[in-house]
Amino acid sequence: MPELLKPNLCVIGAGPAGLDAAMGAAALGASVVLVERGDLGGRWLAGSLATTSLSAAARRARAIREGAGFGVSAEITSVDFARLREHARTVASIAAQNARRERLAGLGVHYIEGAARFTGRRIVAVGDAVNIRAKRFVIATGAVSTLPPIPGLDAVPHLTDDTVLDLREVPRHLVVIGSTAHGLVVAQALHSFGSAVTVLGEVEPLAGEDPECARILLEQLERQGVVLQSGVTIARVEAADKGVRVVAKDAKGETTIAGSHLLVAAIWQPLTERLGLEAARIKFGNQGIFVDTSLRTSNRRVYAIGDVIGARPSVHAARQHAGVAVRNVLFRKTVRLDPALAPRVVATEPALAHVGLDEETARQGRHRFRLLRWTYRENDRAQAERDIRGHIKILTDPGGRVLGATIVGRDAAELIAPWSLAVAQGLDIRAIAGAVVPFSTLAEVGNRAAATYLKPGLTRPLGQRIMAWLRRSG
Ligand SMILES: Cc1cc2nc3c(=O)[nH]c(=O)nc-3n(C[C@H](O)[C@H](O)[C@H](O)COP(=O)(O)OP(=O)(O)OC[C@H]3O[C@@H](n4cnc5c(N)ncnc54)[C@H](O)[C@@H]3O)c2cc1C
Repeated sequence: MPELLKPNLCVIGAGPAGLDAAMGAAALGASVVLVERGDLGGRWLAGSLATTSLSAAARRARAIREGAGFGVSAEITSVDFARLREHARTVASIAAQNARRERLAGLGVHYIEGAARFTGRRIVAVGDAVNIRAKRFVIATGAVSTLPPIPGLDAVPHLTDDTVLDLREVPRHLVVIGSTAHGLVVAQALHSFGSAVTVLGEVEPLAGEDPECARILLEQLERQGVVLQSGVTIARVEAADKGVRVVAKDAKGETTIAGSHLLVAAIWQPLTERLGLEAARIKFGNQGIFVDTSLRTSNRRVYAIGDVIGARPSVHAARQHAGVAVRNVLFRKTVRLDPALAPRVVATEPALAHVGLDEETARQGRHRFRLLRWTYRENDRAQAERDIRGHIKILTDPGGRVLGATIVGRDAAELIAPWSLAVAQGLDIRAIAGAVVPFSTLAEVGNRAAATYLKPGLTRPLGQRIMAWLRRSG
């Protein structure tokens, strides 16, 4: 007879979404069973942190290349991928400390290794050994990378998002198929190490982002030397003497791009297979498990969070979902997910980061709003860093409540954090304009933009009369 467990909550999958849900619910006193079929940490530990380490190394390479402009000259003589892999492993193993079995046990999470599968509306089996009849379930099984069906790909050595750190040498010419945000990050990183890079995509890269900001980012990548070709489909790939040939098609016909290495940016497919979703009457499709705004599935006892609901893959969105699901599960009140509160980040340099309402949506929705801007060019730190391409755009309602922010430029992913808070809390832009930020930081870009909100008031007749009175009264 299998063992029967009856916790308050059963979480399936221990990536960032599942871990946060399990640990959050346990910290609030719920009895929690967490089932994971692979390694704790999911693709956050396996994938995202490798990219983070690669980007950090690329930043050093760019600093060396750009040193001459500061009077500091140096050269890159080699890139040691074995050392870089070791660094990435160290980063992942330190992060893994937060996802250890002992830590879970300490929080009271009952962790079970194995693949979970619904066998009924209220019951999950892990192999033949354990059945779990929980009050509520959270599915957090993430996504799997699949490769586009390209003729010839099977016969040609290629890298993917997951294996890029397996490189042994800097590619002479890397051809990237797929202009996803992640593909661009990897493309730029390898270009910084000295590789020629060509990125081929069917659609314009960063199609869903603020077009003005996306253009700045893409122009900068091109200025750095990354070749971007959009509007092409891949007819086939072939092995060549010293690498690979990619045959691309567009309206004008076929062109062949010869490269030393090939990277295929993956399509991420929500993982809904072998979960017994039909047995639990949970509806799903190619885009993942269907949920309502409270993240509940068609089975009212079951919630689904993270990449498995087909959201744009990101660790912070997965964690946001976990917070919403835990509140709905434990407090039985309906907390709704607002996806706009999770920032979107393209982690290139310059980076692009966005949170809340964007300009295009605001215009289409005929919201009444004000758009405030400030450029990096007008910022001392950006000038000192010789990195002046970029700007911030802030949207407020007419009364000054912050609705959204988009930043393109150096460190945009770091700089978006206070705007995340401002949007989530509906902060008054005047509060941000009045905050004192350290001199000679990029953070001043946001404050200067915020301060422009006050200007029209001062130029209106009433504002001018007050200023005149103040001048007269000494
Ligand atoms: C190469 C790469 C780079 C990335 N870079 C970034 C980045 O820079 N920034 C960013 O925000 N995001 C990045 N991501 C995306 C990010 O890793 C994911 O969005 C995030 O991990 C999703 O979390 P999740 O918990 O929903 O799913 P996952 O992390 O995929 O975890 C799901 C877990 O469920 C387990 N599971 C599946 N089925 C079962 C089952 N039947 N029973 C038990 N367990 C099961 C899996 O083994 C897995 O551990 C990257 C991803 C990759 C692959």
